[in-house]
Amino acid sequence: MKISPDILPELIQAVNNSVTQHADELTELDKAIGDGDHVINLRRGLDALLAQQDEVAQLDWASAWQKMGMTCMSKIGGASGSLFGTLFVSMAKSAKDQSVDVVVFAQAFTAGVESMKLRGKADAGEKTMLDVLIPVARVLQENANGVELADLLVQVKGAAQVGMESTRDMLATKGRASFLGERSIGHIDAGAKSSQLMIDAVVATLQSK
Ligand code: ADP
Ligand code: MG
Repeated sequence: MKISPDILPELIQAVNNSVTQHADELTELDKAIGDGDHVINLRRGLDALLAQQDEVAQLDWASAWQKMGMTCMSKIGGASGSLFGTLFVSMAKSAKDQSVDVVVFAQAFTAGVESMKLRGKADAGEKTMLDVLIPVARVLQENANGVELADLLVQVKGAAQVGMESTRDMLATKGRASFLGERSIGHIDAGAKSSQLMIDAVVATLQSK
């Protein structure tokens, strides 16, 4: 099954709506163990992506991801800006000159998450957005071949939810939350929550097709 990049405006709007709806909750999470600017950072990226949504819809997937990645890097700032930028730019590199189906997407997403790990010098279990993105990449990689798209989407949604919840009991060892040491335990990581919400929005949009 192939999905064309002309779905990008709908996906960007769905992600934007979800972040807007959950802005207060995300800000509270980042205030608890970070500096409270996570939604401001996300907004900067989303506003820039909304402004270029019609342009990226005309491109092939690799070119669209490259452009979106450069936009994230230059517009967002904070820890998350370079991390989201790295995700998309690395996905673009992985999918370059390939026709993007679910299997190629799974490979690209996995390559993107691997690059984020290198960029942030972080891995699973450190109470970051990677605790959502790594399990989602694993589900995609393991099941893209052979599982129906509808079932794969349910698995992705579940992995993101479990990953997000798992950050609550973790000790933060990366990012600002790590400055709190033991006091970081008991709070869900803001980046893990926003990643879960964004993945959920993408899944819901694809499910509605
Ligand atoms: P900042 O930390 O600069 O204020 P944001 O508030 O936008 O940036 O993003 C914070 C989120 O970034 C955290 O909740 C965490 O999920 C994620 N994060 C921080 N440092 C890292 C890292 N080294 N690797 C992966 N994710 C990270
Ligand atoms: Mg912050």
